[in-house]
Formats: sequence, C-alpha cells, structure tokens
Amino acid sequence: MALIELDNIVRSYRLGGEDFHALRGITLTVERGEFVAVMGQSGSGKSTLMNILGCLDTPSGGDYRLAGERVSALSRARLAQIRNRLIGFVFQNFNLLARVSALENVALPLAYARVGRRERLRRAQAALERVGLGAKLQNKPSQLSGGQQQRVAIARALVTEPQVLFADEPTGNLDSVTSVAVIALLQGLWRAGQTIVLVTHEPDIAAHAARVITLRDGQVLSDVRQQAVPVEAAA
Ligand code: ADP
Ligand code: MG
Repeated sequence: MALIELDNIVRSYRLGGEDFHALRGITLTVERGEFVAVMGQSGSGKSTLMNILGCLDTPSGGDYRLAGERVSALSRARLAQIRNRLIGFVFQNFNLLARVSALENVALPLAYARVGRRERLRRAQAALERVGLGAKLQNKPSQLSGGQQQRVAIARALVTEPQVLFADEPTGNLDSVTSVAVIALLQGLWRAGQTIVLVTHEPDIAAHAARVITLRDGQVLSDVRQQAVPVEAAA
C-alpha cells in the first residue's frame, strides 16, 4: 500500500458565480521513503495540491488516502488529528510564533498530542539538535536568521515523527546559499528514511529530489524519477 494515494482529485473555487478549477483530476501515488519535488509555473496548482495533501484543505472531488486512511471523507476534527499524528508541514514564511523561543515553538505540536511538558521539551531539544540548532534553543524567531528560522520550522514539523514531511517553497524566502543549506538538511532527512514532498519552482532545487512531478493548469504534465543530485556536489 502506498503512503499517499490520490485518485482523480479535483479542487474548484466558486468565484463571481463561476467555478474555477485549480486542480483538474490529479491521480498519483507516493511510496514511503520517496523524495518528491512538485514543480510548475505560478498558478499551476502546487499550493492547492499541497494544502490538500497536508490536510489543510479538502478536495471538491476525488479520493485521498494517506497511510490507508480515506482522508477525503473525514470531519475537520479528525483531519486535525491526522495532521498532528501523520504529517509535518513547512511553509515558505516559516509560520513561527514570534513571542516564544525556538524550543517552545518546536514543542507546541506535542502539546496538541497531549505529551507531558518535560517530555515535550526533551523531544523538542532533540529535534532542534537534529537540524543543527542545539545552541539556539532559547532564541526567539527575531533573534534567528531566515535560514535558522526555517530550520526551527523543520524541527517543529519533525518533532511528532510524521510519516511524511510536506514543504511548500521552503526556500522561497531564502538567499541561494541559505537555500542550499536547507536543501542539504532535507536531503539528509530523506537519506535517513523520511518521506518528503517539496514544492519548488526552481529546477536547481528540484534536482536534489528523486522524483519530479510537474503541474500545468491543475493537471500532471509529467512525472519523472531521477538520480537525486547530492547537495554537496552542487554547492
Ligand atoms: P501555485 O502554488 O502553483 O502558484 P495555487 O495552487 O496557489 O498555485 O493556485 C492555483 C490556482 O487557483 C490559481 O489560479 C489561483 O488563483 C487559484 N486559487 C488558489 N486559491 C484560491 C482561492 N482561495 N479562491 C480562488 N482561487 C484560488
Ligand atoms: Mg504556491
């Protein structure tokens, strides 16, 4: 059984009395352990697809199974549970809480999972160490660089040990040197077994994934497996 199974996923928006079809029948599967880059021009439906994959949005039609569970049919409350239990999500603009430390930001998803405070902080520290930020536990987001903030966001996404990590343009707000460092981190996580689906519009970034799915006008234009370029070789 594939980790992700999409069958004819449609997402339409009603705009001024007319339906706009952002996704027009997406059918694909992602196996455990894959590192997939989703590409496509602005407006092609990448974020719409990621929001459905990440259970932040529900499709207008079609079936989505995640780890065998038919998530396209679930209530909001149940979707929130699935998000917390199975999914890590990384956003372009980090989405960190400004007023609390890196450690508290990373520990937060464990509070929703009802893990006790001492254990939360222990696991959050371990996740921050994993992304190379063991020395910045008490820094607030404003006391971190953009690349470091994205590392905190990745640690927060990993702290619940999700089955899959989704990242929508995680390097979109970063300079090219910092982008390479973030991609190196993601590639290392993948080599350690983490399933990753990443959105990017940069071919240089997609080259580091092992499969590239290209969208056009809400449909899959191409879906190609490739040799993932090691980040060190490209840097
Ligand atoms: P991408 O991430 O590839 O740039 P999106 O998935 O954000 O593209 O958007 C795909 C299309 O859907 C775009 O044409 C966009 O304008 C439209 N769209 C996205 N969100 C909404 C919304 N909430 N209401 C109406 N149209 C939307
Ligand atoms: Mg987008």
